[in-house]
Amino acid sequence: MAYEGKGVWCVGEVRHGDLSPSLFELITAGRIIADARSETLTAVLIGKGVAAKADEVAARGADKILVLEHDALDQLVDEAHTGALTAAAGTEKPRTLLFSASVYGRSVAPRVAVALGGAVASDASALTVTDGKLTLERSAFGSAVISTVAVNAADGPEVVTTAPMAFERSGTSETKAEVTQAAVDPASWTQNTEFVSFSADESKEIDLGGAEKIVSGGRGLGNADNFSLIRDLAKSLGAAVGASRAVVDSGWIPYKHQVGLTGRQVRPRLYVACGISGQIQHLAGMKSSDVIVAINTDADCPMMKLATYSVKGDLTQIIPAIVSEIDKVRGSSNGS
Ligand SMILES: Cc1cc2nc3c(=O)[nH]c(=O)nc-3n(C[C@H](O)[C@H](O)[C@H](O)COP(=O)(O)OP(=O)(O)OC[C@H]3O[C@@H](n4cnc5c(N)ncnc54)[C@H](O)[C@@H]3O)c2cc1C
Repeated sequence: MAYEGKGVWCVGEVRHGDLSPSLFELITAGRIIADARSETLTAVLIGKGVAAKADEVAARGADKILVLEHDALDQLVDEAHTGALTAAAGTEKPRTLLFSASVYGRSVAPRVAVALGGAVASDASALTVTDGKLTLERSAFGSAVISTVAVNAADGPEVVTTAPMAFERSGTSETKAEVTQAAVDPASWTQNTEFVSFSADESKEIDLGGAEKIVSGGRGLGNADNFSLIRDLAKSLGAAVGASRAVVDSGWIPYKHQVGLTGRQVRPRLYVACGISGQIQHLAGMKSSDVIVAINTDADCPMMKLATYSVKGDLTQIIPAIVSEIDKVRGSSNGS
């Protein structure tokens, strides 16, 4: 019998007490679908102690909040989260489930889709509903190719992951979502994996994937020590640190900071490229940034041409001058 689901679920991620703002991107994406179909949009909070996050989410544009709360969901064990979500969705029958295309979403979304007999489509950068049918756009080969994917889920829900930062984060609204709690029974799923331990990333660095601001450094820095300039500017702006492959290959900074075709694809509001020429493989990872600032000695390089604001000059002089100016402005606005 054909699946008759209704409503959109946006599945939030709470990691060690912190709610990922990607939920607010899902709410924006989910609104497109829910409004087109006149359906309800539900933000799902899953984990241990997540009910405490309901207030943070209540006025961010969802109609409802569904809390799946249990000690067994404390850590991000895929089978446990899949089991709880599958059981709740089996009862409530949403038509669409949205996840962020994070490590968590990429693992749990397809598991949920298979368990519910639905269809999964990944990495949506745009969503459209036409005559009730959901289609999404996903980019490939560094956005050189955009494919349009039709989601045909006859026997289960549509399960979609959205590309990080592809949708604006929902703002605050006047209305507050109604909060409900669903029963979670660990006996309803089989768990073959066991949580052993968790090691926090001690660096406290902002993750590139969901960063709103990124300061990136390239070979123009001249040497590894000068990466401190990038870190200073990033700290001053509250930004994540990125890098070109040239400096990653030179061992100046770990791979996790690499932006580009073979690194991370990012979409911040602000991208500051310092000493990066803007070869096509780097641009593939960041050209969709809202505002791009380039600092470079070569006014004719591709990054300076692409940039919203280009600053021609030596970064070893320009970056400290910017940091000092920011400090001055901050100082005077603090009344000191
Ligand atoms: C298959 C493949 C995949 C790749 N994937 C990636 C990827 O994911 N990410 C990536 O970044 N690259 C990638 N590359 C490499 C890419 O082609 C470039 O080699 C690389 O991006 C160049 O890095 P860069 O801009 O730091 O260095 P360069 O191209 O050497 O540019 C250095 C820039 O610094 C400027 N400069 C020099 N001195 C100063 C100064 N004092 N002040 C200010 N500016 C200065 C120069 O004018 C120049 O524009 C890939 C290449 C291949 C073949």
